[in-house]
Amino acid sequence: MTIYQNLIGGEWIGSDATENINPSDTNEVVGLYADGSAEDTKNAIAAAKAAFPAWSRSGIWERHVILKKAGDEIMARKDELGALLAREEGKTLPEAIGETIRASQIFEFFAGEALRLAGEVIPSVRPNIGVEITRDPLGVIGIITPWNFPIAIPAWKIAPALCYGNTVVFKPAELVPACSWAIVDILHRAGLPKGVLNLVMGKGSVVGQAMLDSPDVSGITFTGSTGTGRRVAAASLEHNRKFQLEMGGKNPMVVLDDADLDVAVEAAANSGFFSTGQRCTASSRLIVTEGIHDKFVAALTAKLETLVVDNALKAGTHIGPVVDEKQLKTDTDYIEIGRQEGAKLAFGGELISRETPGFYLQPTLFTEATNEMRISREEIFGPVVSLIRVKDYEEALATANDTPFGLSSGIATTSLKHATHFKRNAEAGMVMVNLPTAGVDFHVPFGGRKGSSYGPREQGKYAAEFYTTVKTSYTLA
Ligand code: NDP
Repeated sequence: MTIYQNLIGGEWIGSDATENINPSDTNEVVGLYADGSAEDTKNAIAAAKAAFPAWSRSGIWERHVILKKAGDEIMARKDELGALLAREEGKTLPEAIGETIRASQIFEFFAGEALRLAGEVIPSVRPNIGVEITRDPLGVIGIITPWNFPIAIPAWKIAPALCYGNTVVFKPAELVPACSWAIVDILHRAGLPKGVLNLVMGKGSVVGQAMLDSPDVSGITFTGSTGTGRRVAAASLEHNRKFQLEMGGKNPMVVLDDADLDVAVEAAANSGFFSTGQRCTASSRLIVTEGIHDKFVAALTAKLETLVVDNALKAGTHIGPVVDEKQLKTDTDYIEIGRQEGAKLAFGGELISRETPGFYLQPTLFTEATNEMRISREEIFGPVVSLIRVKDYEEALATANDTPFGLSSGIATTSLKHATHFKRNAEAGMVMVNLPTAGVDFHVPFGGRKGSSYGPREQGKYAAEFYTTVKTSYTLA
């Protein structure tokens, strides 16, 4: 079997490899992907450092052309790359193709941003002096990504890093190297100079750690768990390095008595269970007022009955498998915790067997949960949702905000007054009205507050805040 190698200083290298396994069919090896060492990571950082002076001064048209070419190739290959994504991560084929299209759109967006780079000219408070405010690239950016969006998250970090003139060392999650390898290959062939983008696949504890420990990495952008995020923060402070963290969520969706029941059920089913609940923006807490509670539970469980859990590549599958055995154990452990805490298992909770051996779990809904239970406070990252009954809007809002996280927050209501009040008062980076908490646009800011995120927002033009540093120049006329 071919070994997909690491790209270091423009050369494909690496002979040690790890198997990438399909969670929908654990007999299938998706491919063999290089297992990089700390030495490989140091070499990649050195290559990125050497490539930085020239790339940071490269013309904006060159950057535009390369990013545009990459976006076009990803779009042209959306079905093939989507199938690869579904095979390595387990989201359904339509979800995977949708994510691939989004990756392409992100490259298109930043291809445009490269042409829109600008600064400001401002008069000085002193006579005969001009002031210019410009943005410089940071230098070498370390990119560390999780397994749940194997192509979109790498795209939304690599595209702005390159657009603003940085060079990159990229370490994808060990579970999902295939899409990362594919987009690095596409960018390499699109004409990036040697060393501008380096790929080091391998273990977080080895490759990721070597990035954290390097004084030559000027910025680290990380998406993943809270625990690893804290390590990135501590190491970055030690090196006086800029860092950006996107971590977990325990996103609430409030359903008020006046909600359109169909809209509320669609939003809850989508954001709680699609992508197997493995989205940082998933609604894992449904907060429902008394008047609609019983109707909503009946309609949601009826909807869950119709959802097909099966092989991600099979037509008609709504929910693919859990990503791996470790995550499956986390999910089933929390289902047991929910039972012991006294929540009522209203739907699901069981493992399922399918034609192909995989990590299949029923969508699981706990009702009669409280916001104090561990299943309502800790991120599970699976298709397991707590439903909490509340008296009225005021209690719903207080419950929604009573969480260590603050990524996305939703409300289903036909009341303009409550929708407006909720948008103003939800303690979250993103607020959704009559929409799922998951599913966001690619051209606007993404990120959260409290324990969910740290540092500037990602995506859209706000991405410049992280990938550049502001310079103020004064000139005597
Ligand atoms: P992890 O934190 O385990 O891994 C994220 C990345 O960090 C992986 O590439 C991992 O490598 C790497 N890593 C692990 N250890 C180290 C280390 N010591 N130094 C540097 N890098 C390291 O998270 P998961 O990949 O398991 O993703 C799931 C979690 O991510 C969930 O908790 C979820 O909430 C969160 N998440 C948040 C998102 C957001 O936008 N807020 C989006 C997606 C996920 P390796 O794969 O080799 O372990």
